[in-house]
Amino acid sequence: MINRRKPEWLKIRLPQNSLSEIGKHRLHTICSSGLCPNRNECWGCGTATFMICGDICTRSCKFCNVTTGRPKPLEPEEPDRIADSVNSLHLKHTVITSVDRDDLADLGASHWVAVIKAVKAKNPDTTMEVLIPDFQGRKDLIHLILEAHPEVVSHNLETVRRLSKSVRSRATYEISLEVIRQIADYGIVAKSGIMLGLGETRDEIIETMDGLLDAGCSVMTVGQYLQPSRANIEVSEYVHPETFAEYQRIGKEKGFKHVESGPLVRSSYHAERHVRID
Ligand code: SF4
Repeated sequence: MINRRKPEWLKIRLPQNSLSEIGKHRLHTICSSGLCPNRNECWGCGTATFMICGDICTRSCKFCNVTTGRPKPLEPEEPDRIADSVNSLHLKHTVITSVDRDDLADLGASHWVAVIKAVKAKNPDTTMEVLIPDFQGRKDLIHLILEAHPEVVSHNLETVRRLSKSVRSRATYEISLEVIRQIADYGIVAKSGIMLGLGETRDEIIETMDGLLDAGCSVMTVGQYLQPSRANIEVSEYVHPETFAEYQRIGKEKGFKHVESGPLVRSSYHAERHVRID
């Protein structure tokens, strides 16, 4: 029988400093709205993650707590707002992500480009990672993002091939690998992440690493899935920190330039380090 009580290594106290600073700027960071356990560490390094294109997603992944439904119209002033926020927080590095916007003709791609351009124009010294949706595998739309030249483009596989269909919504393992391949082929740092604790096996994790490397991925994150609400899929296992450390070692040996692997690792963890892969 699976013991679903949280182990000690996942019981962390969330530090409260920095929150007032973020609150002052009325930022919509997923660091604070998602109660990320690493947010003080990231903010301490001058990094924060913003979610754009609203807070309602057209998809319904079983691990995700974002509301599913009909999103509101895009806010034309959002690009400038994000750029101003990055500027007033003096961020050295920023991560931008979004909900999926399958309701829009261009799936939100032109809005993404507007955000990247506005942030770069106002913050020429700030590096940027964009954690993008799959854009339904549309290469023309992904190309628009790449042409805006963020330093790192990430797209999460989320889980191993066998479990993809049952926990992700619409997205497929194969299309996600193609997204990664397109990013790497363009010459931008390609990054991806998976969660453990959904029922995957060691062999499947290794297969996933091999698939990502074959697609040209150079940065990988591996973290523990935590059930965000009762409506989400249950945790099938709390993976021990030593096992995470082993995956870090294996990933590095296989050829990833960076592997962040640990129970509390999220896709933005230590993101500022992933700009450089030499
Ligand atoms: S597409 Fe992303 S934001 Fe939407 S439900 Fe899935 S994980 Fe959550």
